[in-house]
Amino acid sequence: MSTAELPARETMEFDVVVVGAGPAGLAAAIRLKQLAPEKSVVVVEKGSEVGAHILSGAVIDPIGLDSLLPDWRGEDAFVKTAVADDRFYMLTASRAWRLPNALMPPLLSNHGAFIVSLGEVTRYLARQAEALGVEIYPGFVAAEVLLEGDAVAGIATGDMGIGKDGHHKAGFARGMELRGKYTVFAEGARGSLAKLLIARFGLAQNSEPQKFGLGVKELWQVAPEKHRSGLVQHTIGWPLDSRTGGGSFLYHFGDRLVAVGFVVHLNYANPYLSPFEEFQRFKTHPLVRDTFAGGKRLCYGARAISEGGFQSVPRVAFPGGVLVGCAAGFLNVPRIKGSHNAMLSGALAAEHVAAALAAGRGNDELSGYEAAWRSSLIGRDLWRVRNAKPLWSKFGSYAGIALGGLDMWTSTLGFSLFGTLRHGKPDFAALKPAAACRPIAYPKPDGKLTFDRLSSVYLSNTNHEEDQPAHLLVRDAALQKSSEHDVYGGPSARYCPAGVYEWVEEAGEPRFVINAQNCVHCKTCDIKDPNQNITWVPPEGGGGPNYPNM
Ligand SMILES: Cc1cc2nc3c(=O)[nH]c(=O)nc-3n(C[C@H](O)[C@H](O)[C@H](O)COP(=O)(O)OP(=O)(O)OC[C@H]3O[C@@H](n4cnc5c(N)ncnc54)[C@H](O)[C@@H]3O)c2cc1C
Ligand code: SF4
Repeated sequence: MSTAELPARETMEFDVVVVGAGPAGLAAAIRLKQLAPEKSVVVVEKGSEVGAHILSGAVIDPIGLDSLLPDWRGEDAFVKTAVADDRFYMLTASRAWRLPNALMPPLLSNHGAFIVSLGEVTRYLARQAEALGVEIYPGFVAAEVLLEGDAVAGIATGDMGIGKDGHHKAGFARGMELRGKYTVFAEGARGSLAKLLIARFGLAQNSEPQKFGLGVKELWQVAPEKHRSGLVQHTIGWPLDSRTGGGSFLYHFGDRLVAVGFVVHLNYANPYLSPFEEFQRFKTHPLVRDTFAGGKRLCYGARAISEGGFQSVPRVAFPGGVLVGCAAGFLNVPRIKGSHNAMLSGALAAEHVAAALAAGRGNDELSGYEAAWRSSLIGRDLWRVRNAKPLWSKFGSYAGIALGGLDMWTSTLGFSLFGTLRHGKPDFAALKPAAACRPIAYPKPDGKLTFDRLSSVYLSNTNHEEDQPAHLLVRDAALQKSSEHDVYGGPSARYCPAGVYEWVEEAGEPRFVINAQNCVHCKTCDIKDPNQNITWVPPEGGGGPNYPNM
């Protein structure tokens, strides 16, 4: 059946439609209901339940929760461990050099922050939102932006029950049109609809390209004697070379839980690099390996993180809609924190939406939100660290971090020696041809401390209906072979943390295989493919990882 022959979609009208039940989307919904209880608000979430697709560190700056739900600290709704010890190390292959806290720019301090599972936090936020009357629909993807004239008028959820070849299966159900006076796009880093909107409305014309990292994470339950509740530890350096940005995080919280992860900046040049294997290698360092002895790996996952900061934030308001949270790029890279700004931006946008609705407006541009974020707490948070990432990219991990540290110190005092530095090219353009790079030999996993991809993906509880249309769209198959494979050596087989892409030999010819059912929705292929030949679109609602508490 062609789209023209499909039955019409049913329509539901709301005052506000929110895409994504992450901290940004839920904060927007909660603030709207706090300000305008009579207005109708709906949230759609592609995960099978709220939190199922949330992956973060996470050490949270409580400023977002404090402003949204001031009583949260007293509530027993999710595990929260106050940061008790904050450590930063530079690693070589065998040594760890601790940087004294007194040398660290004060804005990087984690004093007063809490270690949490962000998935649990979003479940708490969802309960608060529902108690205020917000309708939340998990298991539904926002697949299409609805336009009326030149204004956004809501979204359509994806059709369900379509087979790989396009035929309608027994349970076929047409998507719904959720129409709203304003639509809040809170899809997180590299949102698929946000990407379309940025292009459609030219939102990034006056900003630097967005930059990204890939965060790969495991959750462990460690032996009692290894647990140091409240310890927050970050490293830079080994196993990455000095030209490749990134580093590790390791947080002890809850009942003997340790969240450990590694972020690799996606402007890396060597197509042989594998962020997944760099992470596995990191865990073998003498500083950390002992932590995991006698412990059990509980969960695995991966997610892109937006790193461009202040200068990469696109225009965040357009007719009928706004971008909030990491869909707008409100993440503070040197702090590796974005959840506070996600909540603050959701709430800020909601305040402008509520005022516009009260004035009888709808489907117009909320220019007040656009004007407000830079002078808000969000803008001030991002402004002071705006040069950290460009300095790191330009001068590498040692000189770049030292200069970035100096800049953050002077910015704390109110000035910068560098002005506002540019990022230059997007991440995909940083990849070099394979012939210009050296292959990297990664050690074999031991199955105790280090693991392979497939056993890892198993721990993400990822599940997709197998008979459904492709959600990883390769625009030009010939280009994939002639460039991604022949020139770049097939980096997709290494950057994908879920083993989705493979080049297999068939009758002496390389064939591109896509194991789409393993996809953990990290969005790295959409960002890093050197020809921008792969597009991630949402699969059928409810598919993807099922993270219990990442
Ligand atoms: C490895 C890693 C470590 C991090 N560590 C920290 C930390 O320690 N502290 C901190 O503060 N921040 C940290 N962050 C950043 C933090 O997780 C983000 O800033 C925050 O999650 C952004 O919130 P958000 O609501 O904008 O997006 P997200 O949290 O990504 O939520 C977006 C939601 O929208 C849903 N969605 C997306 N597209 C659609 C669609 N089309 N239809 C329906 N639903 C959709 C997703 O399933 C998801 O539930 C980390 C991030 C990573 C990846
Ligand atoms: S296919 Fe793309 S989005 Fe899915 S896990 Fe791999 S890199 Fe991430």
